[in-house]
Amino acid sequence: MKQDPKESGPGGAESPAAPAWLKEAAAALENELVKQYGEGQRARIQRGLKQISGFWRASDGDRQVFDEFVRKHFAGDQASVDTMFGRFESLLEPSFGHMGEISRELRQQTDLDAGPVQPYDEIFAGYNPSAHLIDDFFENKLAFVVLLNFPLTTLDERLKEGEKWSRRQWAETRLAGYFSKRIPAGVNLAISKASAEADQYIAEYNIWMHHLTDDQGRRLFPAQMRLLSHWNLRDEIKADYQDTENGLAKQRMIQKVMEHIVDQTIPAAVINNPQADWNPFTNEVMPAAEKDSDFAPAGKPAANTPEPNTRYLRLLETYRASRLVDPYSPTAPTLIARRFDEDREIPEERVEKLFEQVLTSPLVPRMAALIQKRLGRPLEPFDIWYNGFRPKTKYSEAELDAMVARKYPSAKAYQQDIPAMLRTLGFPAARAEFIAENIVVDPARGSGHAMGAAMRQAKAHLRTRVEKTGMNYKGFNIAVHEMGHNVEQTLSLNAIDYYSLNGVPNTAFTEALAFVFQAQDLQLLGLQSPGSQAKALKALNDFWATYEICGVSLVDMRVWHWMYDNPEATPEQLRDAVLRISKEIWNRFYAPVFHQKDVVLLGIYSHMIHSFLYLPDYPIGHMIAFQLEEHMEKAGKIGPEFERVARQGRIAPDLWMKGATGSPVGPEALLAAAESALSVVR
Ligand SMILES: [Zn+2]
Repeated sequence: MKQDPKESGPGGAESPAAPAWLKEAAAALENELVKQYGEGQRARIQRGLKQISGFWRASDGDRQVFDEFVRKHFAGDQASVDTMFGRFESLLEPSFGHMGEISRELRQQTDLDAGPVQPYDEIFAGYNPSAHLIDDFFENKLAFVVLLNFPLTTLDERLKEGEKWSRRQWAETRLAGYFSKRIPAGVNLAISKASAEADQYIAEYNIWMHHLTDDQGRRLFPAQMRLLSHWNLRDEIKADYQDTENGLAKQRMIQKVMEHIVDQTIPAAVINNPQADWNPFTNEVMPAAEKDSDFAPAGKPAANTPEPNTRYLRLLETYRASRLVDPYSPTAPTLIARRFDEDREIPEERVEKLFEQVLTSPLVPRMAALIQKRLGRPLEPFDIWYNGFRPKTKYSEAELDAMVARKYPSAKAYQQDIPAMLRTLGFPAARAEFIAENIVVDPARGSGHAMGAAMRQAKAHLRTRVEKTGMNYKGFNIAVHEMGHNVEQTLSLNAIDYYSLNGVPNTAFTEALAFVFQAQDLQLLGLQSPGSQAKALKALNDFWATYEICGVSLVDMRVWHWMYDNPEATPEQLRDAVLRISKEIWNRFYAPVFHQKDVVLLGIYSHMIHSFLYLPDYPIGHMIAFQLEEHMEKAGKIGPEFERVARQGRIAPDLWMKGATGSPVGPEALLAAAESALSVVR
C-alpha cells in the first residue's frame, strides 16, 4: 500500500532518453569550470551538471550545444548568482501571474453564477494556458539555467537539513523546485480537462429538497430548497439538530439520499431536477405533484433509471489523467507520492499515523457516550456530523438567514464589509484596507471557493453563493472560510520577502488559516464573544469533526491506492471498491461506537470525485488550525499573528509550525483540549 520513493535525489539519474555523450561531457566540463572558478565552486558545479543531465534530451542539442550552454550559464561567483536569482524572481512572478489571470477569466462562466453554461464554456474552462509554460522553459533552456545553478532537494533533505537553511536558501530551493519535472504540455492539458469535467459534474449536483417525500407522502423540506451534494446536504443534517419537530426525520431522509448517491442507485431523474418527486426510502420517482421552480433540465431519463455510475467515471478519469504524469515524475511516480511527498511534504505513513491517533483515541467512546446522552437516543450514522457542541446562540437558522440576507443582499455588499470584518478580527485599520483592496468578491455557481493571485498586481478572488433573496447563513459561513484563504493568499504573496516563497507549506495550512476565520463567523455578525464554556464546546466540536474527516480521508487514500492497483478498472468496479473501502473504514473506526455496520456515508464527499486526493488536507488542517487557534488566543487577537505566520511562506510544514507555535504538526493540542473539555461539558 505504501509508496517507496526512490532514494536518489531529483535529477540524480539520467533521463531515459539521455544522449550517450552526456556523462563524458559533464566530467570534462567539471574540470574546466573548477579551473576557471576555483575549487570552492566544485560542489555547485557537480550538482548543477548532475541536475541538468537528468533532464537533457537529444532534442535539446548535441554535445557542442551542451558545452556552450554550461560555459555560458554557469554563475561562478556570488555576485552573478545574486543577479541571476533576482532576475528569475522578478520575471517568474509576471509569467505565472498573468497565466493565472488568463485561466481565471476563461473559467468565469463555469465558476460564477452568470447564467447558463454553454458547451463551449466547458472547453474554455478546460483550457489551461500555462500548460505549456514549464515545457517552453525547458525548450528555451531557462529551466536548465535554474537547474544548473540552484539546488533541487528531496523531501528527506528538506526534512533533515531545512531547519538550518536561510530564507534565501529556502527561496533558491523553491525556485529550482518549479523545474523538478518535465511534463509534456499534452499531459497537463489532459489533467485540466478531466478536472474541469469533474468540477462541472459536482457543481450541478443539486437535490431539490421539497420534492423528497416520505411514506406518508409528506414533504419535510421547504419549497425551492436546493442543496448541493455533499456540502449543503451535510450542513442541512447539522442544522436539523435544532429542529425538534422534524429534525430527526429530515436527517434520516438525507442519509438515505446520500447512500443512494454513493452506491449510485439514485434515479438519474432526480438529480438537479425540481420536476420530479422522489421517495428515497422506496426509491420511487413520480412527476412533481407540486411546482416550486420553472427550472426543467433537458434530457432527464425515465423515472427510475439509476445514475449510470457517472460519479465513478468522473473519478476514474481524474485518475487516468493523473497517471499520465507518472513517467515524467521519477522521484514521485504516483499522484499519491506527489500529494504526500511534494504537496504536503509530510510522508503518507506519518499522516496515516496522525489520523489513527485521532480515530483510536480513548476520547472517542467518551465523546460518543456524551453525544448519545445529549441526544437522548442511540447514535445513528449521520451523527458523525453531530454539531450540538456549537455554543448555543439566541438565534435560529432562519433568523440567522434573515440577518445575513439583510446585511449582504449581494456579493458587492459583502465585499464592502471586508475591511470592517478584518478590523473585528484584530487587523489594524490600515492593514485591513490593504488586504481588502486585494480581494474581489464574486457570486459563485457552486458552493464557493477562494482563488488566489499569482502576482502582486493581480487580486485574490472570493467566490460565494448568493441566492436571489441575498446571502444565507450557510453561504456566509463558507464565505468567511474562503475569506480566510484570501487573506492568507494576499499576505503570503504581497507581504513576503521572496516571490519563490509565496504561499504556505501546503494546502492544509491554508485550510487551517481559513478555519481560524470560519470559527469567528458569529462574532463577525456581532452575535457573541466566546467564553470558556464556548471554548470547551468548540474543542469538542473540532475533535468530533476531525474524527469524522479522518475516516473520510482514509477512504480517499485507500481508493487512490486501489485505482493504482487496478489501472484497468471500470466505473462499476470502482463503485464496488469505494463501497467496500467505505464499509471497512467504518467498521473499524466507527461501528464500535455507532453499533451499526457496513455504513457507506464516508464515501459521500464530493472532493473525492473532483479534488485529486485533497481530503487528507482537512484533518491535517483541523490539527493545525487547533494549534494556531490556541496560539492566537494566547496572543490576544488574530490579526497581527495571522499576518506574522502567513508571511513565513512556503517553507517545510513542521518548520513553519515551529516558527508559528513552537511545536511541529500534530493532533496533541487538539486531543489535550478535547480531554479537558470533556470534564467541563456535560
Ligand atoms: Zn477551504
